[in-house]
Amino acid sequence: MTFDLIIKNGLVILEDGAKHVDVGVTDGKITAIAETLTGDADKVIDAQGQVVSPGMVDAHVHITDPGGGYRDGWEGYDTGTRAAAKGGVTSFVEMPLNQVPATTDKASIEEKFDAGKGDLTVDVASYGGLVPYNLDGGIQELDDAGVVAYKAFLATCGDRSIEGDFENVDDYSLYEGMKQIAKTGKILSVHAENANITDKLGEIAYKNGETTLSAYVDSRPVFTEVEPIRKLILFAKETGCRLHIVHVACEEGVEEIVKAQQEGVDVTCETCTHYLYFYKEELDDIGPVVKCSPPIREQSRLEGMWDRVQNGDIDFVTSDHSPCTPDLKDTDNAFEAWGGIAGIQNNVDVLYDEGVQKRDMSLERFADIIATAPAKRFGLDSKGSIAIGKDADFVFINPNSSYTLKAEDLAYRNQMSPYIGREIGAQVARTILRGKEVYSQENGVTDAKDGQFI
Ligand SMILES: [Zn+2]
Repeated sequence: MTFDLIIKNGLVILEDGAKHVDVGVTDGKITAIAETLTGDADKVIDAQGQVVSPGMVDAHVHITDPGGGYRDGWEGYDTGTRAAAKGGVTSFVEMPLNQVPATTDKASIEEKFDAGKGDLTVDVASYGGLVPYNLDGGIQELDDAGVVAYKAFLATCGDRSIEGDFENVDDYSLYEGMKQIAKTGKILSVHAENANITDKLGEIAYKNGETTLSAYVDSRPVFTEVEPIRKLILFAKETGCRLHIVHVACEEGVEEIVKAQQEGVDVTCETCTHYLYFYKEELDDIGPVVKCSPPIREQSRLEGMWDRVQNGDIDFVTSDHSPCTPDLKDTDNAFEAWGGIAGIQNNVDVLYDEGVQKRDMSLERFADIIATAPAKRFGLDSKGSIAIGKDADFVFINPNSSYTLKAEDLAYRNQMSPYIGREIGAQVARTILRGKEVYSQENGVTDAKDGQFI
């Protein structure tokens, strides 16, 4: 047999465990896995000493392209997908906000596809939005356009002075939207925080002269995450809509989801790398670059979240890569700063170090939380695992190889990240998309733009 590529000598994470095997690739697909492959190959990569994982499928990424004249300096497709490649992410699911217009119907998703055309270093799947203003055909148009899932906000979001910006749902639009989405068979993913209480507590703290991130965390208490999760589960039972809760930041929220699963509700959840790494007591030393919502909670809660990732109660981990321009983070008042963390480049290395190396996570579970589980949940059938017939998407990891992240390492349009200055104990050595190298420590990120909207 002749292959385009053979990967030799790596510790390869297969669905039934990590093994020292060779992997053969033909026409962008995995075509052979064996102890030793003997056929001819145009290219052979020696992965001696490296872990070969399925490329990350990051199910929560914000690319702000088009910016619509309002957010033009935010993350674009070119830089965002380069950073993905550098971080071992071979595909991601893109959120339907903060681009202008938000992705809420046929016209806006086509505008988005145009903005990304020829600019993708990795593959991109799309979310469509559920907003109060797209219940008159928008949901169906997005289904026809091939979105993999829908996204709604219960927390307040969007700028009402920008026409076409995203908006959080009221209870009626949530209910009606879930009925419509149920008919598509797709999943609704929701940012679950109580808008009314968190807005008001934030307002009061701000008026009282509070400025710290610690006070910001206190203005979004745990029960304001739990209450909307309960409501969403009730709505899911009523409408039959499949449900996913994005970036759960507390165990109490996870507990509600586990209970609902036991009752037979089709509901899953994710958390983000930053909720497994940072903690409240250090946030003010880091500054507004680490502000996000739901907020990062106390150090005492960190290991409980890791336990839930290990035991599968939390289905997978995402970056919620949500960058803005530096001016929006340049304030001493945490309440005034934009909330969002740039993180797509530091999922694989941080999760490998913190999960596998520091907390004895199995390699199988590692591949599951970064790739297999999100690909399955969102129906990305060609992605997420190293198996015959799947896309040849890989990330090669150098274990026990620490480095300190510098701003200039970041491929983002704006080189901001709370991980800057942190020592990370593993490194992404190489990323391969459908059989072609898109990043290596040797060659950097490729200028070829072979990524596709999927
Ligand atoms: Zn997000």
